[in-house]
Amino acid sequence: MRSFEYYKPNSIEEAIKIMSGLDNAKFIAGGTDVMVQLRQKKISPQHLISLRNISELRNIDTKDGLKIGSLVTHDDIDKNEYIKKYYSALTDATSRLGSKQIRNVATIGGNICNAAPSADTACPLLIFDAKAVIIGTKGEREVDLNEFFLGPGKTVLEKDEILKEFSMPRLKENTGSAYIKHTRREAMDLPILGVATRITISLDKDSQIRCRDLLCTIDSISNILMQLKDEGLKCEEARIAMGVVAPKPIRAKKAEEALAGKIISIELFEEVGEIAASEAQPRDSIRGEAWYRKEMIKVLVKRALMKSIDRIVRPDEEIYPERLW
Ligand SMILES: Cc1cc2nc3c(=O)[nH]c(=O)nc-3n(C[C@H](O)[C@H](O)[C@H](O)COP(=O)(O)OP(=O)(O)OC[C@H]3O[C@@H](n4cnc5c(N)ncnc54)[C@H](O)[C@@H]3O)c2cc1C
Repeated sequence: MRSFEYYKPNSIEEAIKIMSGLDNAKFIAGGTDVMVQLRQKKISPQHLISLRNISELRNIDTKDGLKIGSLVTHDDIDKNEYIKKYYSALTDATSRLGSKQIRNVATIGGNICNAAPSADTACPLLIFDAKAVIIGTKGEREVDLNEFFLGPGKTVLEKDEILKEFSMPRLKENTGSAYIKHTRREAMDLPILGVATRITISLDKDSQIRCRDLLCTIDSISNILMQLKDEGLKCEEARIAMGVVAPKPIRAKKAEEALAGKIISIELFEEVGEIAASEAQPRDSIRGEAWYRKEMIKVLVKRALMKSIDRIVRPDEEIYPERLW
C-alpha cells in the first residue's frame, strides 16, 4: 500500500478547506470501503481526510420527520427505537449489513457516497423520499436521492463537497415499510437483490382488529391477501425501490402508480410485481443471473408489501410474515 498524508479536521468548513487545497485527496469516514479499495489498489489517493472528528455529522434528529447525519453508523441506526418503529425498512437494512464489527464503524454516508448498486441503505432511503444535504465551497444544496447516484461508484458530489445528512419527511398515519435483502446465506453477504417498499393504507379500528386476526392465524401469504381483499383496504400511497437491478439503485415508479388508489388484493400485488420486474435491467453476475433477479423481484415486491402492511396492522408484533415464506 502506498503511503498517504492523513488529516483530521474538526469541522465541515475545515474539511472542505483542506480538500479544496489538495489534489488526489479522498474523504474517509468508517473506511470500510476506502481501505478495501486502497488495498486492492483500485484507488491511490495521496491524502486522506478523515471526517470522524466532525461531531455535527453524527446527529439523528426526529423532531419533524427524520434527519440522519452522514457519519451515523449502521449500529447507531440499529439501536434507534424511533427509526425502528417509523422507518422500519432502514433498520431492516442496517441490521443485516456486514458484520457487527463493520456496523460499528461503517457509516450511512459512506454506504451512499460509495454508490455501489448493492448498497443496502439506498433502497430504504429512496422509499422514504430522502434528500441528500450537501455542503461545499459554493454553499449548501439539497439533492433528491433519486438524482444523487449517477452509476456504479459515481454520484453528483463535486470534489470538495461533503454529504452532510439525509433529510426525510414525516410519514402519514397507517404507513408501514420493509426492506428485504435476498442473499445466498444469512450471515455477512452482499444482496443478490434488495427490495424496499412503503405503503399507506386506509384502515379503521374494526378493520384493524379483523386484519390482525387474519395475519396471526392464516397459513399462507396468498390466503391472507385473498382475505384482506374483503376488507377493502385501499392503498393511498406507495413507494418501491430496488437494488442490484440496474447500474444504480432505482425506484419502480410505474409499479408505484399501479398500486396507488387501488384495493389491496393478490391480483394487484402480482400485477405490481410484474410491472416492477419490467422496470429493472439486471445483468448476470457472480451472485445471480439476470433472469433469476427478474423472477425474484416479483416474489420480493409481494413479500415486502405484505410485511409493510403487517407492520401497520400489528405494530407491536416481532413475528413477521416471514414465518409464511
Ligand atoms: C466485510 C465487509 C462487509 C460489507 N458488507 C456490506 C453489506 O452487507 N451491505 C452493504 O451495503 N455494504 C457492505 N459493505 C460495504 C461498506 O461497509 C459500506 O458501504 C459502508 O457503509 C461504508 O461506510 P464507511 O463509513 O466505511 O465509508 P468509507 O469507506 O469511509 O467511504 C466510502 C466512500 O464514501 C466517501 N464518503 C464517506 N463519507 C462521506 C461524506 N460524508 N461526504 C462525502 N464523501 C463521503 C468516501 O470518500 C468513499 O469514497 C461491507 C464492507 C466490508 C469490508
